[in-house]
Order: sequence, then structure tokens, then C-alpha cells
Amino acid sequence: MTDKISQINNINIKIPKVRGIIRKNFELSRLSWLKVGGPAEIFFQPEDEDDLSFFLKNLETNIPVFVIGACSNLIIRDGGIPGVVIKLGKNFSSIRLNKTVVSVGAACRDSYLAQTCAKEGVDLSFLRTIPGNLGGAVKMNAGCYGSYLSDYLIGLTLVRRDGSITDMKASDFKFSYRNSNIPDDAIITNVLLRKELDDPLRIEMKMTRALDVRNLSQPTKDLSCGSTFRNPLGRSSLEDKYDSDHSLKAWKLIDDAGLRGAKIGGAMVSKKHTNFLINNGNATAKDIEDLGKFVIKKVKRNSGINLIWEVKIVGKY
Ligand SMILES: Cc1cc2nc3c(=O)[nH]c(=O)nc-3n(C[C@H](O)[C@H](O)[C@H](O)COP(=O)(O)OP(=O)(O)OC[C@H]3O[C@@H](n4cnc5c(N)ncnc54)[C@H](O)[C@@H]3O)c2cc1C
Repeated sequence: MTDKISQINNINIKIPKVRGIIRKNFELSRLSWLKVGGPAEIFFQPEDEDDLSFFLKNLETNIPVFVIGACSNLIIRDGGIPGVVIKLGKNFSSIRLNKTVVSVGAACRDSYLAQTCAKEGVDLSFLRTIPGNLGGAVKMNAGCYGSYLSDYLIGLTLVRRDGSITDMKASDFKFSYRNSNIPDDAIITNVLLRKELDDPLRIEMKMTRALDVRNLSQPTKDLSCGSTFRNPLGRSSLEDKYDSDHSLKAWKLIDDAGLRGAKIGGAMVSKKHTNFLINNGNATAKDIEDLGKFVIKKVKRNSGINLIWEVKIVGKY
């Protein structure tokens, strides 16, 4: 049931015969929000959940597997990602509104979900301005303006590295500020969200307001990964809904260190929002990572505070 088609560190990877798409040395920069990064040794887009499960069951256990969403929170290094990179495609993006819950495929775009639900009078408006897919949003406990994914999460379906498929409850996991303890080798395929009903027009207005606030304060037209560093006092709504203390915001610490507009190669600290590192067009992943490290060093020297990456960095140099 397998074809021998690739090697990692002189180990042959035997690829299970699947119905989905398999590509070798697949350039990931084209999928990445930052438009940087090297190739996936093997790229797999499963046809459906059974295809994904079969693939994982039959893939040798020593082969590393990494799942990507829209790569809006990832810096993929220039040397690419060894092993297998899995991306769920449009077959995993259905939206079903049941009586009490919204059941959504993990590849559904957050903004599309918010807009579709709004038309039905279901308020997931906070997702309207978060780039990325729902699986990544669950894993990262994405949130903004006082609402977080975990506030709405009821359950999720996971496919584990051994190919087993399990339905889990939200309460099986811990969610905190920009984080969850969902295991790194688990792939979220479907998500159940609580339905919060409101008037469609009012939800629409909320989304328009949120877009306006974003466009005013963030470089939304530039290539970035959003906030690069965690706010040192960052909270999730489980703790304190209104995170209004700006004194320890990452952007302020970076600004106070005089780094607005600082550049390394094609990477730059945004002049509009200093917690955004942007690709000016010709940046490498190394430029962005180096600039991030430089920011951490300068902020530490200036304020004594250690900034921690919110963006995940994956792959090899
Ligand atoms: C301009 C801009 C603004 C942003 N603003 C916000 C904001 O306000 N609030 C916020 O929280 N974030 C924000 N982000 C960050 C980002 O959009 C979120 O973290 C988003 O939820 C990541 O989703 P993704 O699909 O892009 O995940 P990726 O970046 O592809 O992956 C992120 C992590 O999730 C994991 N993952 C992805 N898909 C799955 C899956 N199906 N199963 C299991 N694990 C998975 C990956 O392995 C990785 O560990 C912003 C980003 C940008 C570019």
C-alpha cells in the first residue's frame, strides 16, 4: 500500500497510497501569509478524514508531521520543513448551523465563518478580522476585542498521529492567552461552536467597526503575521475580559526601545504598529527571525523585559 518516494536524512519515506494530493518539495512560501519559507519535504492535502486517518496510520512513526492552516501565525524557515506537512483543503471547510451549535470544518476561513453566521443571526463577529483558518484559531485560542475562541468552543474532532479519530470536549483542554494544550501531533478536523444569537444588522455593524479599528491601527495591507510577540500582561477572557492595560503591551515596549521602522534585510518593524514585523517584499525568513531576535535584545536592554514570540517559528535554517 505504499510508494517509496522521498528521503529524510537518508531515510526513505514510504508514502501511503491516498486519495488526496501528495507533492514532493512543495514550496510553502506561496501559502504563507508572510510569503517566506522553504519547501515541505512532502506535502499532503487529504481528501477527507478517513484519507487523513489512513495516511497517518500507515506512515512510519519516525517521520515528523506538521499541520499548517493559513500560516498567518507561522514563520517557516528558509530551509523548509522536514517530513510531512499536512494542510486541510476545502473539503474540510463546511459550515453547518444546527439547532444549538455551529459545526465547522477546520479549514474554514475565520472571516468567512463570521460573515456566513452573521447572515443567520449568529454572532461570531470577533472572527471577522482574524486572518487564518478555524483549526489554527482553536490551537492558538485566537481572539480580539475581548472575545476568544475558547469562549465559544464546545467540542472538536482530532485525528492523532496514530490515525485514530476522536471527538473531544472543550473542557478536555486548557486554553489561555494565545495558547492551548492541544497536542502538537493532533490535527483538528472539525469544531463545534456555541451559537450566540443576535440581530444580523447589529452583527454586521460590529464587524464593520472591527474592520475600521484594525485598518486604522494595524498595517493590514502589508505582509505580516500579526502581533509578533505576546503582550507580557496578555490575558484571555477566561481570566480578565478587558485587557486595557497598555503599559506592558509589546508594541509599547518595542516603541520605547526606539525600534519603530527598524530594518534587517527586507524585514521591518512596522511604523504603524510596532508589534508587527513586515516583509517589505524581498525578506527571507531569516531576515524576519533575525529582526525579531534583535527586537528581543533591545527591549530587554531598555526595559528589562523578555519578549516572548507569539508567532511560531518552524523548520530548518
Ligand atoms: C494581520 C494579522 C492580524 C492578526 N490578528 C490576530 C488577532 O487579533 N488575534 C489573534 O489571536 N491572532 C491574530 N493573528 C494571528 C493568526 O491569524 C491566528 O493565530 C490564527 O488563528 C492562525 O490560524 P492559521 O490557520 O493561519 O494557523 P497557522 O499559522 O497555519 O498555524 C498556527 C498553529 O496552529 C496549528 N494548526 C493550524 N491548523 C491546525 C489544525 N487543523 N489542527 C491542529 N493544529 C493546527 C499549527 O500547527 C501552528 O502550531 C493575526 C495575523 C495576521 C497576519
